[in-house]
Amino acid sequence: MKEVITEMERYAIANNVPIIEIDSIKFIMKYIRLNNVKNVLEIGSAIGYSAILMANATDNVEITTIEKDEKRYKEAVKNVNKCGLDKRIDIVFNDALEVNLAGHSYDLIFIDAAKGSYIKFFEKFCHYLNPGGVIITDNLKFHGLVNNKDSVNTKSLRGIVDKIEKYISFLNDNKDYITKFYDIGDGLSVSIKKNNEK
Ligand code: SAH
Ligand code: MG
Repeated sequence: MKEVITEMERYAIANNVPIIEIDSIKFIMKYIRLNNVKNVLEIGSAIGYSAILMANATDNVEITTIEKDEKRYKEAVKNVNKCGLDKRIDIVFNDALEVNLAGHSYDLIFIDAAKGSYIKFFEKFCHYLNPGGVIITDNLKFHGLVNNKDSVNTKSLRGIVDKIEKYISFLNDNKDYITKFYDIGDGLSVSIKKNNEK
């Protein structure tokens, strides 16, 4: 297990796969433990690194994770099998915006895929949240570039940074959710649905 994790960290560096920062995954694992999270939906599996660590937070949490890149999906399947976690981690090979999850609901939804689609992911998947559930989003600092726009000099990067800023405004303006932002790793947010009952 530990060896597979170390191997994945090496693979990620060698192949430019953006895996979650240690402090961020520790925060999420602690959240899973303290809140007795039973199931997680992850948008963006990459090679399965964060899914495997989330599954390790407790001995019964179940993860559904979606990845649209075939090479990464296959790598994730391989890693999950190596860890013997195939019973608790379900990897879906598809574009998250195309997936139909009717009939399913989750205690925690972790958004960590294309930064430019964060608002779309939130709007689609918030309907699958259990009462009391939360949506956690990663990379809100986007490697420190959000709030430091002068250092962003390519058009495509600036586009992503703009979209992350729009997502942050979207969260702040969202009347149905209360969002807290954490300066952990590459920046995390935790959005909790307000209790609308009187
Ligand atoms: N959660 C992973 C890292 C994910 S990196 C970890 O921390 O270990 C983001 C991944 O999201 C990439 O592998 C990318 O292929 C995938 N992705 C981007 N847009 C997507 C979409 N619309 N649907 C599914 N996966 C997507
Ligand atoms: Mg991330």
